[in-house]
Amino acid sequence: MPDVLIAGAGPAGAIAALVLARAGVRVMLFDRARFPRDKLCGDTINPGALAILQRLGIAEVASGGLSVDGMIVTGESGVRCQARYGGGVHGRALRRCAFDVALLTAARRAGAIVEEGVLVRGPAVDGGTVRGLIVATRQHRDCRIAAPIVIAADGGSSRVARALGLAAPARRPRRWAVGAYFSDVDHEGSGCFGEMHVRRGRYIGVAPLPGGFTNACVVTADRGALRDPSALLLDTLKREPLLAPRFAASRLLSRPVCLGPLAVASREWLESTAGIEAAPASDNPSASVAIAIVEAVPIVMQVPGERAMPSSTSRQAQSSIVPARSSAQYFQASLPLPSTPPR
Ligand SMILES: Cc1cc2nc3c(=O)[nH]c(=O)nc-3n(C[C@H](O)[C@H](O)[C@H](O)COP(=O)(O)OP(=O)(O)OC[C@H]3O[C@@H](n4cnc5c(N)ncnc54)[C@H](O)[C@@H]3O)c2cc1C
Repeated sequence: MPDVLIAGAGPAGAIAALVLARAGVRVMLFDRARFPRDKLCGDTINPGALAILQRLGIAEVASGGLSVDGMIVTGESGVRCQARYGGGVHGRALRRCAFDVALLTAARRAGAIVEEGVLVRGPAVDGGTVRGLIVATRQHRDCRIAAPIVIAADGGSSRVARALGLAAPARRPRRWAVGAYFSDVDHEGSGCFGEMHVRRGRYIGVAPLPGGFTNACVVTADRGALRDPSALLLDTLKREPLLAPRFAASRLLSRPVCLGPLAVASREWLESTAGIEAAPASDNPSASVAIAIVEAVPIVMQVPGERAMPSSTSRQAQSSIVPARSSAQYFQASLPLPSTPPR
């Protein structure tokens, strides 16, 4: 029997698996997707997240990315702020299809068993205690896999966390994202910066990527506009005076993808179960937040010593069921700042 089952093999699940497998824990990781897979994201990794990768000894997973000097943020009134990370500190811009598969490879190398193309239907619950996961087999039959510990790293719409009442869609903010890849975008003058253009009711993220790609995302509160995601993305770029000339010769390389509603509410669980005052719901938690789960896992699971696992008493088993994002939200605040800036 595995010691830990992880639903979801994005950054949170893959890094949790890596850390656990290195500690000698028998860990199984499930993802409904087959990798490499794309994931709607701004595709930039901030210096804090890079420092975590470096601490874990897997900085090479981001080595194929462009070095990002900092961020440009503009506002509706024409205000423009360009900030360099400075001090030799950089971020990275890298497509998630490349980043996530590299993380997963690192988890596999550490000894985690990775099952791709396997849908997690939900937690297996007996008498109020989670005993494992129910997964859909490739023969389209449901199969129950038992383990004393389950980690819900299945993203913002986590079936596992929602089935257990640990997370729910937030009532507000209600926002959706649409994003795609472009070629032939003019980055002259902006250098290698991530960009965030904040406008009334929406914001636009732009990031240069390796290979001449550019990531552009629009996050909007206008649900109706999602009826035509391509029009929403292209019209928004065309109407934006700062971006229109830079995208004038661009080519859309991928079908625009939608995601949302983005915000997840987990306050109630954090406050009632963990006695922690939760961070407000955010609709754009950064990957460093997701990655912070690796710091959280040993603490939340209270894994003592080398290979020891918590006993499966109801109380301990319940306290070990953690929606990755929620725990990360809390632990982000307690993460030490990187002492050595990554290169
Ligand atoms: C528009 C937008 C832009 C963003 N830009 C950035 C950015 O530039 N930099 C940054 O650091 N962060 C960014 N983020 C945030 C970042 O995308 C998330 O923090 C990160 O993806 C969370 O990682 P995760 O592993 O928790 O979840 P995910 O990356 O969502 O991974 C969850 C995994 O679980 C799998 N899964 C889901 N349900 C099931 C199921 N039932 N069974 C099996 N598998 C399942 C999915 O296939 C997926 O692989 C952005 C988010 C949005 C919406």
